[in-house]
Amino acid sequence: MQVGAVVKPGTLLVDSNSKPVVLLIDDSADVHRLVRTRLRYEAIELVTAFSGVEGIAIAREKQPWTILLDLDMPEMDGFSVLRELKAASDTTSIAVIVLSGISESQDKVTAFDLGAIDYVTKPFDFAELRARLRSSLRMQRLMKMLAERAEVDGLTGLGNRPQFDRRLRQELSENARYGHPLSLALMDLDHFKSINDTYGHPAGDEVLQEFAKIVFGSIRSTDIACRYGGEEFALIMPNTAPDDARAVCDRIRAAVAAVKWARHPERPITVSMGLSGLAGPGPGLTAEAFIEGSDRALYTAKRSGRNQVVVGNPATPGGSTPPLAKAG
Ligand code: GH3
Ligand code: MG
Ligand code: MG
Repeated sequence: MQVGAVVKPGTLLVDSNSKPVVLLIDDSADVHRLVRTRLRYEAIELVTAFSGVEGIAIAREKQPWTILLDLDMPEMDGFSVLRELKAASDTTSIAVIVLSGISESQDKVTAFDLGAIDYVTKPFDFAELRARLRSSLRMQRLMKMLAERAEVDGLTGLGNRPQFDRRLRQELSENARYGHPLSLALMDLDHFKSINDTYGHPAGDEVLQEFAKIVFGSIRSTDIACRYGGEEFALIMPNTAPDDARAVCDRIRAAVAAVKWARHPERPITVSMGLSGLAGPGPGLTAEAFIEGSDRALYTAKRSGRNQVVVGNPATPGGSTPPLAKAG
């Protein structure tokens, strides 16, 4: 196997194949019809809500890039909707353009103070609305690209530790909600320090990059591969029971052991892995307990001679485990 370039990140926040979702919240069917007609050639997926309550629920579920929000609605007005969106962590970063028939400057000031990024008055100048929407979507694309880059490890192109932490919490809450299987593997290169010591740091870096490439090439697009730190990696496998996860890990382990390294063909590299998981609905585990289970299995793999995959159980409260640093 040849050593190649840095791999692509495993999880993208900006999916270039899908259109950004734009949510229109307005109580008037006429406005819905008009906006839909006038924005029909925009590269967006327009979703709609006729009340504030419905709009907030859709915003939560669909995570639109931009919301077009009417201020004047019965029951829950636009200001209240804006306040709720900005107060909740899962909707606070969604861009909101306020739409209103009212052109008083105090309303604009209030909307901006509450977190709106722009303001368009009715009756619409649709060329202006399109231009403001495009500008908002450009800004959102940039923000998402920056957020994505902040979660990518510079050397390997895999997710970094913050991405790992975020995605593990997310997948654990999915497991708690839907009971789908979930597995977590921790991987630690064997005797890696001696690679640096014998062949130099650049040779060590190349091993880390090639290892990341093998992992990335062996997993599903829904799996999340991250550099946990140093020469330690983590692989979150949603919808994968421990038995299936073990097969994935063992494929990676064998592929790594089979590489003939250009810089040191006489010296193979091996990797030890600890795996734990939930085959179905879990007992509401914390991320720490889940990591602890895999870490304990990794420790066993190291102690039992390295170059192997050991399957353990997610930790139960009160169980004692050596920290990852001790595992390798
Ligand atoms: P074990 O089999 O028990 O895991 O032994 P080990 O030598 O792999 O473990 P140890 O934790 O003693 O050494 C890890 C080494 O990884 C030490 C550190 O210098 C090296 N390392 C960490 N990050 C990088 C990196 O980004 N590049 C390179 N080249 N080396 C790194
Ligand atoms: Mg190691
Ligand atoms: Mg280590």
